[in-house]
Amino acid sequence: LRTRGPRGRYAPSPTGPLHLGNARSALLAWLLTRLQGGTFVLRMEDLDQPRVRSGSARQIVQDLRWMGLDWDEGPDVDGPLGPYDQSARDDLYQTALQVLKDRDLVFPCYCSRKDIAQAASAPHGRSPVYPGTCRDLAPDARVAAAARRPDRTPAWRLRVDDALIAMEDGVYGEFSQSMSEDVGDFVLRRADSLFAYQLAVVIDDGLMGITDVLRGFDLLDSSPRQIYLFRVFGFPIPTFWHVPLMLDEAGNRLSKRDGSDSIAQYRDRGVEAPHLVGLLAASIGLVESGRKLTARELLHESTLSTLKERLQRVADTDSKNNS
Ligand code: GLU
Repeated sequence: LRTRGPRGRYAPSPTGPLHLGNARSALLAWLLTRLQGGTFVLRMEDLDQPRVRSGSARQIVQDLRWMGLDWDEGPDVDGPLGPYDQSARDDLYQTALQVLKDRDLVFPCYCSRKDIAQAASAPHGRSPVYPGTCRDLAPDARVAAAARRPDRTPAWRLRVDDALIAMEDGVYGEFSQSMSEDVGDFVLRRADSLFAYQLAVVIDDGLMGITDVLRGFDLLDSSPRQIYLFRVFGFPIPTFWHVPLMLDEAGNRLSKRDGSDSIAQYRDRGVEAPHLVGLLAASIGLVESGRKLTARELLHESTLSTLKERLQRVADTDSKNNS
């Protein structure tokens, strides 16, 4: 896998139209890969079917193309390139989970959210750490637990050890979490039998040989879990680049679900792609504000070191504002 060279990806969830923040992450992920002469992959994270909106994947592909982004691979050899769809990769996640079952690294969990909240301690502002309720159930206790909830399948959780996962994010720098104290045994297959994001993302990034993961800052918190899983499966660990989230004028996070600032809206208002690309690039200081340029032109004007430096600078201001 290491011989495949730099490989980056953009992995949107088709849960609504791309907003400015999503588009900025896509542009930066593309730029980071292209600046290294690498291969870029688009992957639709459409596993969470209850949240997927029909037509959204197609709209995202259109928006990205309109912005001038391109990608190099896809599942169909003859058809148009990509994206990869997670919904078509269930067998892979199934196999991965089976490998973990065979190694006794996962266990079925019958707890409801409420059970966990009652039994667990929650670190400040985070979801509760799983208290280990079902971790070591004896076989008969397991049968009894299952019988108490005949209406649902169990979730499957990864049995974590007490590793301290320390990482060096390309943008935010050092970040670490204790698996046992900060995270706990985490879900790989949900009680609604869908595979969890954490499992799918690691299997995909691992199998696709991704070397650079660029995505929104909100996922920094998930990265130690993913690094832990990369290690469990023996995949090389990519470099992570978490980029600041874009806020609206009132300082709120943009959300796909409320359709705020969608790329489609900009386009409908007659905004041209070079205008939008300029706006996004200017928002991290890559170009002067007011510039209009295509994604290709941005690529030719940028260097890896300025990209990195600008991202770190924005992240710095971001952290200062948050503290
Ligand atoms: N699908 C996730 C999202 O749209 C991104 C996952 C990732 O980049 O690892 O927020």
